[in-house]
Amino acid sequence: MKLLFYVPPGSGLESWMADFSTALPQAEIRFWQEGDDAPADYALVWRPPAAMLRGRSDLKAIFNLGAGVDAILQLGDAIPASVPLIRIDDGGMAIQMAEYVTHAVLGYFRRFDKYREQAARGEWTQLPAPDKRDFSVGILGLGVLGSRIAESLAHFGFPLNGWSRSPKDLPGISCYAGDDGLDAFLRASRVLVCILPLTDSTRGIVNRQNLQKLQTGKDGAYLVNVARGGHVVEADLLAAVREGQVAGATLDVFDHEPLAPDHPFWQEPRISITPHISALSLHQDTILQVRDKIHALEQGNSVNGVVDRSKGY
Ligand code: NDP
Repeated sequence: MKLLFYVPPGSGLESWMADFSTALPQAEIRFWQEGDDAPADYALVWRPPAAMLRGRSDLKAIFNLGAGVDAILQLGDAIPASVPLIRIDDGGMAIQMAEYVTHAVLGYFRRFDKYREQAARGEWTQLPAPDKRDFSVGILGLGVLGSRIAESLAHFGFPLNGWSRSPKDLPGISCYAGDDGLDAFLRASRVLVCILPLTDSTRGIVNRQNLQKLQTGKDGAYLVNVARGGHVVEADLLAAVREGQVAGATLDVFDHEPLAPDHPFWQEPRISITPHISALSLHQDTILQVRDKIHALEQGNSVNGVVDRSKGY
């Protein structure tokens, strides 16, 4: 079996190649370089150049070494239509997302931001106890990662709303679906968590109009974005925070990464920034998932994570 591999410079090429060789000892794995059009069975890629995949209908599948496929789908026709594109589902990322979002939601709910400000001034003041009934969390996206986030928040008793494309019936979550369900979902939620794929339908969904529909409770709405920067209209969020309608945000992803040193988000104390680390790709989990999926495909079985290109995820 021949495997064609690509990750961009600086992404740990040697260790990926060594670990794939260990996991699939019978396979011949080679790093793709410009001009390589020798036969291959599978491509294993992260942010590949179009030239690597264009015309490669000999492949049995292309494995995207991450959960999000927005970058690879930008290659458009360069990905042969006949070749399945398979993404990582979970791969150790769901639990990390649950940790990150739970930390952000609890941090706002228990007012740790306010206590940090007070502590910096040497101030000892107990704020009123927060009330969960005033603190509904709405999760945009109820897929592999969103449903794990919901499960984690449910343990703390937050009222939960979820929004997906297709209708769902999940215990403990008020489920809304499709464009028709978005308005009611937003109006029922105070904390908005975005874990959608970035597609033509979801780009810019966290905009001024939608932020204004959120409940504000006593202190304002709150945003956690762990999906893609393109979901948030950054100027709209900044305005909503400055006006107080949104009390703050925890942001892991941005339109342009790394976030520019002069970006106004850095100067806004109510916005917490992390450098795209909410769910890091775990080499071993990723490699073992790809190995198992290759084995399943070789035996003629179906696998999870096949991307529906018409939907964009
Ligand atoms: P899934 O495909 O499992 O879930 C996507 C969810 O979004 C589904 O519930 C889907 O609805 C819903 N959805 C998609 N489009 C729409 C729409 N137009 N309207 C309403 N709902 C919609 O993806 P994952 O949970 O695995 O991953 C989600 C995203 O998280 C990835 O695409 C990636 O961009 C991001 N991510 C970010 C990381 C980071 O480090 N910040 C790490 C990993 C992923 P339905 O269930 O009906 O299909």
